[in-house]
Amino acid sequence: MARYPRAIWKPIERYKPGGSSHQVMPNPGRLCYHTAVTSGDSLFALFNTPGNAVAHFYVREDGKVEQYVETRTRASANLEGNHDTISVESWDDGGRRRTWTGAQVEACAELAAWVNKVHHIPLRRLPSSRPGTEGVGWHRLGIDGNFPQRPGELLGGRVPGGEHWSASFGKVCPFDGKILGIVNDILPRARRIAEGDWFDMATKAELGEVVENKVAPLRRELAEYRRNEVARDAKAREEFAEYRRNEVARDAEARKEFAEFRRNSFRREQLLISLIRAQAERLGDTATIQQLNQVQAELEAAIRDSGTAIDTD
Ligand SMILES: [Zn+2]
Repeated sequence: MARYPRAIWKPIERYKPGGSSHQVMPNPGRLCYHTAVTSGDSLFALFNTPGNAVAHFYVREDGKVEQYVETRTRASANLEGNHDTISVESWDDGGRRRTWTGAQVEACAELAAWVNKVHHIPLRRLPSSRPGTEGVGWHRLGIDGNFPQRPGELLGGRVPGGEHWSASFGKVCPFDGKILGIVNDILPRARRIAEGDWFDMATKAELGEVVENKVAPLRRELAEYRRNEVARDAKAREEFAEYRRNEVARDAEARKEFAEFRRNSFRREQLLISLIRAQAERLGDTATIQQLNQVQAELEAAIRDSGTAIDTD
């Protein structure tokens, strides 16, 4: 579905899917402006009459836009170019107004920016009606006639090898002033809108599309970031727990070392006692020997206990 959200949608039945003139246009590559030679507010009645060529859009004097055919359906205003051309008709006060109104410049630029966003048609001047060219142009590029300039120049007609976009020799569509306006005003403005001001002019539907395409993935990215953050927290907690486990182990190790230290000091005491005991035996001091035996037994018990205490820790 390719409808311009800013347009008044007035579909021509025979160009709708299933209609007698419906043909798909999968890859529009060109946007083409026309002048309608009319002072009317709408081309619906004209286009709705079988046998008449139909454009996708009409831009009124006040810049209001009507859309008659979806932009993924072929219209019929560009003859051999219909297969990939989006066509835009425009009010000109019955041919008396030969330049765009200010409102039309803005409307045509906004429309071109939308076409650029949706169909990726480049916002550059279409060089000719040759097949495969892409960009923004005007009907005269595909018309033979005696125009003010030669084919290939700004105000010239169809170049050799270019598609015929009209069977009417010398048909003035659009006027010189409108061609100059497309190049000097509409295209630069369309580029500015496409590059920066697009959000300022975006409709609710257009914003909805942006939200779907841009904001939703961003939110998924943020959620992913949060999940990773939680994972990082878990990792930190794990590291802290590991630190605590090590701390307990370090404590146990310290207690063990202390017990070892105590054991060694008891053993040094034992050695000292045995030296004293040897002298007491030489002197035959039985009272002292008994005391020393008692102390020796207590030291042995303490050494055993300290060893047991470590083992059960
Ligand atoms: Zn035309």
